[in-house]
Amino acid sequence: MKKKCLFCQIANRETPTEILFENDLLVVFKDIKPAAPLHLLIVPKKHIRSINDLTESDRPILSELLMTAKDMAERQGIAESGYRLFFNVERGGGQLIFHLHLHLIGGW
Ligand code: AMP
Ligand code: ZN
Repeated sequence: MKKKCLFCQIANRETPTEILFENDLLVVFKDIKPAAPLHLLIVPKKHIRSINDLTESDRPILSELLMTAKDMAERQGIAESGYRLFFNVERGGGQLIFHLHLHLIGGW
């Protein structure tokens, strides 16, 4: 049997990862190997491989990812100092986990 996707497992709370925020569409948790003082991953509950695989019906998910990033930056107190948001897309773009996720890094 094929092993289940790691981020699907986290979103379904099948692993002990601490979830900082959750709603109907997504979950937010800390990156295990932070690239900045604050490094969050904003992850849709729906399994979508990468930005390349988005369809028209995924527009609400994409919108929610960005609005949640903004809210999380504010909540974590890094909105004023500034932060970066990015998606790695496929291997050439540095993607290692093939379940769509938005990186939020900041807190320098
Ligand atoms: P990407 O290279 O865009 O696919 O990013 C995958 C990210 O997931 C990396 O920054 C990893 O450090 C992070 N990561 C891998 N496993 C876990 C995990 N179990 N919990 C939290 N973050 C993870
Ligand atoms: Zn998945």
